[in-house]
Amino acid sequence: MAKTYLAAVMPAPNVPIELREFPEPALEPGSALLATMYSEVCGTDVHLHHGKLAGVPYPIIPGHVSVGTVAQTRGRLTTPDGDPIKEGDVVTFLDVHETCNHCYHCLVANQPNRCPSRKVYGITYSANDGLLGGWSQAIYMKPGVKMIHIPKELSPETFIGGGCGLVTALHAVDLAHIRLGESVAVLGVGPVGQSVVALASLSGAGEIVAVDGVRDRLDFAKRMGATSVVSLSTPRKERLSQVHALTRGCGVDVVIEASGNPDAVSEALDLVRDGGRVVVCGHYTDSGSVEIHPHWQINRKHVELRGCWGSRFEHFHRAVELARRVGHLKAWEQLVGGSFPISRSDEALEGIAQRRHVKALITIDG
Ligand SMILES: [Zn+2]
Ligand SMILES: [Zn+2]
Repeated sequence: MAKTYLAAVMPAPNVPIELREFPEPALEPGSALLATMYSEVCGTDVHLHHGKLAGVPYPIIPGHVSVGTVAQTRGRLTTPDGDPIKEGDVVTFLDVHETCNHCYHCLVANQPNRCPSRKVYGITYSANDGLLGGWSQAIYMKPGVKMIHIPKELSPETFIGGGCGLVTALHAVDLAHIRLGESVAVLGVGPVGQSVVALASLSGAGEIVAVDGVRDRLDFAKRMGATSVVSLSTPRKERLSQVHALTRGCGVDVVIEASGNPDAVSEALDLVRDGGRVVVCGHYTDSGSVEIHPHWQINRKHVELRGCWGSRFEHFHRAVELARRVGHLKAWEQLVGGSFPISRSDEALEGIAQRRHVKALITIDG
């Protein structure tokens, strides 16, 4: 009998997750099949379930960052570093695929995240096209997908604990240009924010203030390197005074917004010092709008405001390298609050939606 693989499918927004069997794919030249070890569940999956991202070709198999073992290959495959990829290797892969390197966005603007050909595993590939998401026993690596080995000295659990949040955080910290001794406020310490705190700390930041409404998350942020925490249960004006008190009344050098709440963008502009930098990376999907006062919050303050949406291979590559070298210094592995078999993907998603876990994993149940 032909082999089949079980996968969790999001049929459409706001309907329950379904389990479906998929036939074993016929491998094209240059492709591979991964036996999934872990795939993560993050806030983006919740937003996909609520239909908050345009252009998603439901039904989809969610799961954009995953780790797996190479089960089959067709032809000679290598990583972008030139290392051969063989059956049995433990790898992860960049979820973004098929950027064309021919269009205006790829070649002139240097913004391949806007390339019209861009596809993302677990987000913009349809389940009708096969095993192209991680909440599945197997993931089809189309020709040209950029795989990277999980090095022997890096546990897959540490890497996937950081997962997409770590990659996004690395991109955001790049854009923020955090310098030694600078003060940083991180608004929202979910999976992205926790990694931002850790990377700010590893970058030699001075004061690192975490702001969130969930006490457990604030406590965890201290483990990741936050030097102070401010609760959202404190009124906004008072939060501003608390952050000012930590920075000689000036405001912080850098604010990284990782909450996905539109109000946090306005608050970021209040918390930042004159001439400081604000990076907004929490709004990967549409969470609505907010009123900004351009004179007081941007123009007069000489604020540098940057958006950060999606990541490129360089961020992914450096995230693996960083996790290999310093993954043991921060509690990435402990960010995972629950592991679920594919058959309980709906519970994993619900746990993230209800903020019971910072991060959940889909693990493969054979
Ligand atoms: Zn994610
Ligand atoms: Zn392009």
